[in-house]
Amino acid sequence: MTTEQEYLHHLENDPNYKGLKVNEGTSEKPMMNPNFKRTKRPAYTVDQYVEGILSSDISMLSQAVTLVESNKSEHQAIAQEIIERCLPYSGHSIRIGLTGVPGAGKSTSIDSLGMYLCEKGQKLAVLAIDPSSERSGGSILGDKTRMERLAHHKNAFIRPSPTAGSLGGVARKTRETIILCEAAGYDTIIVETVGVGQSETAVHSMVDFFLLIQLAGTGDELQGIKRGIMEMADAIIINKADGDNIPKANLAASHFRNALHLFPKTESGWEPKVLTYSGFYGMGIEEIWEMIQAYKSFVVETGFFTLKRQSQAKWWMQETVQEILRRSFYEHQDVRKLYPQLEDKVLKDQVSSFIAAQQLIDTYLSKKENN
Ligand code: GDP
Repeated sequence: MTTEQEYLHHLENDPNYKGLKVNEGTSEKPMMNPNFKRTKRPAYTVDQYVEGILSSDISMLSQAVTLVESNKSEHQAIAQEIIERCLPYSGHSIRIGLTGVPGAGKSTSIDSLGMYLCEKGQKLAVLAIDPSSERSGGSILGDKTRMERLAHHKNAFIRPSPTAGSLGGVARKTRETIILCEAAGYDTIIVETVGVGQSETAVHSMVDFFLLIQLAGTGDELQGIKRGIMEMADAIIINKADGDNIPKANLAASHFRNALHLFPKTESGWEPKVLTYSGFYGMGIEEIWEMIQAYKSFVVETGFFTLKRQSQAKWWMQETVQEILRRSFYEHQDVRKLYPQLEDKVLKDQVSSFIAAQQLIDTYLSKKENN
């Protein structure tokens, strides 16, 4: 055959050629193991979860936390049982709250402090409350990738913020997770939150010691910091005190010390401290830990440590009662029917807000009594 004939005989020059030649292939493997049976969690019994947690089995702990975080009622039922059973083994830790604006160095600092503690043989759980998770459906805090060294340490347990629900709901789940972590032998718990204002109260209501990270050199040091957050802090720690930034950090520290003097005395009797450190270079980390230890000795001696935990437990009980009542009220069928009508009348000045509220409550209660 000449080259031209070869060309004409080429498969692709056939007018019927469709451009595709499908080789006989192998059948595609199933994506899932066909022997894998999708089991609905909870996969274990309460006894197994509790046993796993008490023997520090991280996988069991993680799965139990997933149940705590779930909004499914069957998961909640088993989670509550697990919590109840773990409660007697909980409480033996120092719970530390940590806040600071994005970029303040929270994850870098937790990584450093965490490594320092884990290397000493302590066990650290890092939990997070992320107020933005409610909207974004994801969480930016407590993510393992943000604490690279710690994430690989066998003594550390890092859990991102529960995502679904109101801030109150998210906070409750974190508080319950603390109980499970303590039962699993974690002696230090860090609850991290982003310093924008709403979530600090929630964190404050579950920790023994509250740390506020600040930066130097951002102009007027005290601007932009909510007074309420400063008042909650047991210590202000000024990060990035390294290199050329050291004098600025020291200056900021004296500004903060002066500012703290103007605040009313704390309930604990502890004078909030101001320290400078560098999370990145690991300088001043030991001093921060020593300060937390000094605080703990101080409040254990005065009895405030137990008192605070008791008042937190009371606060959570009240909160939960209020939440259950609120939900039950707004889900009540007759209330839901009447609510828009009364709201309309209130807007038109036909009924006072007080009378309208009273009518709604009466409707709610009368139905309850008839039930
Ligand atoms: P977060 O958003 O509060 O968790 O802050 P990151 O820990 O992610 O830190 C924000 C940025 O500040 C990162 O680029 C860190 O490397 C940097 N950074 C954190 N701590 C220090 C520090 O002690 N010194 C210096 N120079 N930079 C730091």
